[in-house]
Amino acid sequence: MSDTIFHKIIRREIPATIVFEDEHVIAFRDIAPQAPVHVLFVPKETIPTLNDVQPEQAAIVGRLAVAAADYAKREGFADDGYRIVMNCNAHGGQTVFQIHLHLLAGAPLGHFG
Ligand code: AMP
Repeated sequence: MSDTIFHKIIRREIPATIVFEDEHVIAFRDIAPQAPVHVLFVPKETIPTLNDVQPEQAAIVGRLAVAAADYAKREGFADDGYRIVMNCNAHGGQTVFQIHLHLLAGAPLGHFG
């Protein structure tokens, strides 16, 4: 089984600033924020990269997006807007091999794409 720093956060073996958790998802502040708000949404089920998501696991990815949007609404920046990013493998810049969705917000982020 792959084990990452995010699994250790899920198991409370290392500290993190957890801002949301339910049965399927945990969310915590990124240790090296790239925007005023930078939160990572991570599924509890082990999936190393987006390439590994099976069709029957599509809801897991969907839950990350819904959890991020709900967080943005609760925190009051949903209308101003935000960006979600998921990196995959070397060219995508993925460094932790448990899928996660970055939520970036709190300032204009500039055009991307
Ligand atoms: P990625 O490059 O997409 O794999 O993103 C991994 C992210 O995890 C980076 O933005 C790191 O800053 C962040 N990160 C690494 N270790 C920790 C940690 N212990 N707590 C919170 N965020 C972390």
